[in-house]
Amino acid sequence: MTTFIIISVIILLALGYLAFRLFNNRQNSLPATKASLSSELKQVLQQHVSYYDRLLDAEKTRFESLIAGFLDTVHIEGVGLEITDMDRVLIASSAIIPIFGYKEWRYTNLTNVILYPDTFNNDFQFEGEQEGRNIMGMVGSGYLNGQMLLSRAALLKGFSATSGKNNTGIHEFVHLLDKSDGATDGVPENVLPHEYATPWLKMMHQEISRIKKGNSDIDPYGATNEAEFLAVTSEYFFEKPDQFQQKHPELYEQLSRIYSQNPASNIKKS
Ligand SMILES: [Zn+2]
Repeated sequence: MTTFIIISVIILLALGYLAFRLFNNRQNSLPATKASLSSELKQVLQQHVSYYDRLLDAEKTRFESLIAGFLDTVHIEGVGLEITDMDRVLIASSAIIPIFGYKEWRYTNLTNVILYPDTFNNDFQFEGEQEGRNIMGMVGSGYLNGQMLLSRAALLKGFSATSGKNNTGIHEFVHLLDKSDGATDGVPENVLPHEYATPWLKMMHQEISRIKKGNSDIDPYGATNEAEFLAVTSEYFFEKPDQFQQKHPELYEQLSRIYSQNPASNIKKS
């Protein structure tokens, strides 16, 4: 009987120890709540992303952490090129800028970003004749669901000092955000309160008709449809917030509501 009790106690202790080890391992394998960014990546951010440069210090730290989290969860691959730190930082920045105003946001509809050296055509050819090879980026659908395709040349240009109102990376991530409610239609219902949808549509149609008449400084590509209008005006909103607010106060206010951000106020007046 005594032997039985001793054996039982030993078995129980062993089981307890195993359970403890298992639990601890599980804890260790959980992703860190705060991802941190290497100093190399941080340097690229400082040198090339003016949006980041305009943030206050506490916000910079939050931006870095979101960049690191994005790079931990989304796979970036190159076709005919080696991915560099610069590529990684600019792709992640394009992803985080539009969602920086939201408390919690995950791109649940994205697993891979595929980077091409230059613009590509519908068959994903990126070399040879320029004619017909004019796609700078796209959000995949159908068999390409969960994939985003980007031209590196266009990505880099978007973050260069001479890009003006254009930023291809931001453009594509705005499409992805717009798509998250099931329809890429220029009305991001996940983030736009329902009562604002109709006024927003009206505002879009008015400005689209101005663009078509040549009475707007918004890139004519924005007049293609509502989805392109949202993407093109968002590039302008994030790249040249002051100018956009001054020339299009109502659109600025509306995009400010959509993104829960006021990028014109981020600019340090020195
Ligand atoms: Zn587009």
